[in-house]
Amino acid sequence: METLAKSIGKTTRFFDPIETASREAITKVKLERLKWTVKHAYENNPFYRRTMKQHGITPSNIKTLSDITKLPFTRKRHLRENYPYGMISVPLEEIVELHASSGTTGKPTVVAYTRGDLENWGSLMARTMNMQGVSSRDIVYVALGYHWFTGGLGFHYGGLRLGATVVPAGTGYTRRNITMIRDLGATVIAAVPNYMIRLAEVAGEMGVDLKRDMEVHTALLGAETWTEEMRSRIESIWGIDAYDVYGMSELYGPGAAGECHVHDGLHVWEDHYLVEIVDPKTGEPLEPEERGVLVVTPLTHKAMPLLRYWTNDIAFLYDSTSCDCGRSMQRIGRITGRADDMLVINGVNVFPSSIETVLLKEEGVSPNYRVIVYRESGLDKLRLEAEADENVPKEKYKALERLVQNRLKEVLLMNPRVEVLEPGSIDRVDGGKVKRIIDLRK
Ligand SMILES: [Zn+2]
Repeated sequence: METLAKSIGKTTRFFDPIETASREAITKVKLERLKWTVKHAYENNPFYRRTMKQHGITPSNIKTLSDITKLPFTRKRHLRENYPYGMISVPLEEIVELHASSGTTGKPTVVAYTRGDLENWGSLMARTMNMQGVSSRDIVYVALGYHWFTGGLGFHYGGLRLGATVVPAGTGYTRRNITMIRDLGATVIAAVPNYMIRLAEVAGEMGVDLKRDMEVHTALLGAETWTEEMRSRIESIWGIDAYDVYGMSELYGPGAAGECHVHDGLHVWEDHYLVEIVDPKTGEPLEPEERGVLVVTPLTHKAMPLLRYWTNDIAFLYDSTSCDCGRSMQRIGRITGRADDMLVINGVNVFPSSIETVLLKEEGVSPNYRVIVYRESGLDKLRLEAEADENVPKEKYKALERLVQNRLKEVLLMNPRVEVLEPGSIDRVDGGKVKRIIDLRK
C-alpha cells in the first residue's frame, strides 16, 4: 500500500488568519465578543440576570477585558442546579445538539449547541488538528466515546471540516481497532493517552508491528491528565508524534487549546475563549507563570454562555505570546491535574502527575500503574504498584522497586511502598478514562 502521510512534513499553513494576527487585533475581537457574551447572558438567561443583579453589575460595567474580574465565577454546581435547561439562553427550537456528562457524582450537566455553535466547534477543532499536522489526506481514527461525551464528536467534526476521512470507531473492541487501524491505513488516532499504551500492548499480543504494519504518524490526545514522560513513551513505542488537545464539554468540547509542533505549551484560541489563572483558594488573578485554576469564559457559545467558568484544572499562562510556530495566540502550560485530584499526604500536596513523571523516567517500568493511598496508625501511607516491561527479568524487580522508591521519596517527602508487578497484573480499560489513584481514606 502506498504510504499516505508519513512523508508529509509539518504544516506551515494556518487554518485561520486570526492565528497569527497582531495582539492588538486579537484583543479587539476578544473585547467585542466578551461584551456580546455578557449582554447575551444578562438579557437571555434568568440565572445570569439574577446573579449579576445580586453583584450590582450590568453589561455596561464591562468596558475592558480586565473588567471581567467584576463578574462572579460560574461553577459546575451551578450547571447541576440549573439542570436540565436552566443555563440555556436561546429558545429550545434553536438548539440542534445536546450532550450531557455521565453524572456519576450527582445530576448530570447538560451542554447545548445552536447550529452556529456547532460550526464554531468544528472549525476550532479543524484549526487545532491542522496545527497538529492533520490534513485532508489523512484518515482519522476516532477511538473516543461518542455517546454523551463530547470527545468523539469533537474530533469527528474537526476531521470532516478539514476534509479528512473520519472513522467513528468509539471505545472498546481493542483487537478490532488494531485490525481496522492497520487495514484501513489510518494515519491519525484520536484517543485518551492511556489507550495508546493499551492499543500497543494488544497489537503486540496480535503480532502486529506498530512501526512496520501501521501508517499512523500522529496521535491527538486529551481528556485525561498526562505527562511529558507519557508522551515520550507513546511516541517511542509507536514511532509517531503525540499532541495534547485541551477542552471540556462546557467549552464546546475538545479544541479550546492545543499544542503546535513546538510542543511548548498549548495555544488557547483566544478569539473564542478568554482565559484567566486564579488562586484556587481566593479566586484572585495570578501573574503569568504562576500555577492556579484555569477559569474560562467562552466568547461565542450562543446556546449556553458561561461567564468565568471554574474548570478546576490547574495550569499557568505563558509570559510571552510569541512562539516559533508563528502563532500569536497566548499559551497555557500543560494541565498538571484537577484541583480536586490533589493528594494531601501527611500535609504535603502531591499531584498524581508528579508521581507518573517520576515513575516513567525509569526504564523498565510500564505506564500501567496504580497508586493506593491509605491510613495506618494515624499516618498517611502510599503504595505504588507498577508493572514491569515485558523484557525485564523477574530477578530485576527488587532493584527496580528500590530505584523508584528512592526517587519518589524526594517528591512525596515520605517513604512509599513500591511494588513492581508482572506485566498484565493491573486491570485494563479499553478506551475510557483510567482511574490510577485509589484513595482509601475517603
Ligand atoms: Zn506555537
